[in-house]
Order: sequence, then structure tokens, then C-alpha cells
Amino acid sequence: MADRRQDETNTAHNEAMKRQQAEHRAKMREKKQTERGLLMINTGDGKGKSTAGFGTVIRALGWGHKVGIVQFVKGAWKTGEKEFFTRYPNLVDMYVMGDGFTWDTQDRAQDIASAEKAWAQSRTMMESGVYDFILLDELNIVLRYDYLDVAEVLAGLEARSDRTSVMVTGRNAPEALVVVADMVSEIKAVRHPFENGIKAKQGIDY
Ligand code: ATP
Ligand code: MG
Repeated sequence: MADRRQDETNTAHNEAMKRQQAEHRAKMREKKQTERGLLMINTGDGKGKSTAGFGTVIRALGWGHKVGIVQFVKGAWKTGEKEFFTRYPNLVDMYVMGDGFTWDTQDRAQDIASAEKAWAQSRTMMESGVYDFILLDELNIVLRYDYLDVAEVLAGLEARSDRTSVMVTGRNAPEALVVVADMVSEIKAVRHPFENGIKAKQGIDY
């Protein structure tokens, strides 16, 4: 009789513990969800996707956050942002795809190799656990050209450190990326000076 009561007490105890454990796990999941860095996408045909990315870089730096930038664009072009971070090299870790190469050749194989190198760099930074914010500027563009495999990019973003928020920019964000992102902003073009024959302006467009 005493044994049976003992068994019942044990079973009740075990069940209570299981319930407690399940509650604890759910809480941890919730916590992890809310404390995890965000995946954000700036897409659409309007101007301001990269600009918003660099605005967020400044905001993060203001709080002393550790910031990384990878630009999936041809590195031979001079841009204000590259000039700025070259002048202040300690502010961020910046990597420009194909920097140091000549981009006059229309070499697809070379473009793919450069995109892969830039992506490998992005993955290393995302997994390192040292960055609070990483801007992957124009990643959508190389995905659009099929220079990188979307599934591989999704896996890399998913494998990022919990502390790291990532912002991906570029037109035509692939649907597979859009569905998993925490934030998706689509910038709509209402008017662009280019339509009126106004050329790209230094300090505004590049
Ligand atoms: P920005 O870098 O100025 O924030 P963006 O990242 O939104 O622009 P991209 O698609 O990366 O836009 O294009 C970069 C360049 O193309 C910039 O010089 C930008 O002014 C220009 N551009 C952006 N939208 C348009 C448009 N709708 N028509 C013509 N040119 C555009
Ligand atoms: Mg851009």
C-alpha cells in the first residue's frame, strides 16, 4: 500500500516536473525569439534602400555597436560611403566585392567568383558573434543574377549569431528571403530625377 502511494507521488511529481520543463522551454524559445537580432530587407524600385542601410549603420555606431558591411557591387566604382569609411577605417569592417579588380571585362565567371568570395566573407562575419549589425548591400542583386544560391544564402542568414541583426538591400528581393525576414520594406518610386534626364549626383546617388 505504502509502495503504491509512493508510486503515485512519484508519477505526480514527474508530471509536474515535465509541465514545468515544457513551460520553461516555451519561455526560453520566446526569449530567444525576441532577443535575437533581426533580419531586415530593403527592396523596391525607389531610391533609398542602401541609404537606409547606411543610416542604420550610423545609428548602430552611435551606440558603440560593432558593425560590418559587405557590398555586393563592383568595387571599382567610387562611392561616398567607401571614401568615408576609408578615411575612418576603425569605424566599421567594410568589404567591397571585387575591390582591387578591374571591372571593365564582362566576365560572368569572374563575377560569380567575386560574389562567392563576398558571401563567404559575409557568412564568416555573421557567424563570428562579434557583430551587432551587418549590412549586406545589394545582396538581392547577385541573387537576382543567380550568382549565389538562394538556399545557401538562407542557410547562412539562419546560422548567424543570435546577437547579429542583418539588413539586406537591393531590388527584387527573392520571395524565399521575404517570407523569412522580420522586416521587409518596399520603397516605391514615385519620381526619380533620372526620368528627367538628371544624371546621378555625387554625394546623393554615389
Ligand atoms: P541609394 O543607394 O541612393 O539609396 P538604392 O539603394 O535605393 O539607392 P539602387 O537600386 O541600389 O537604389 O540603385 C542605386 C543607384 O540607382 C542610385 O544612384 C540611385 O539614385 C539610382 N536609382 C534608384 N532608384 C532609381 C529609379 N527609380 N530610377 C533611376 N535611378 C534610380
Ligand atoms: Mg542600393
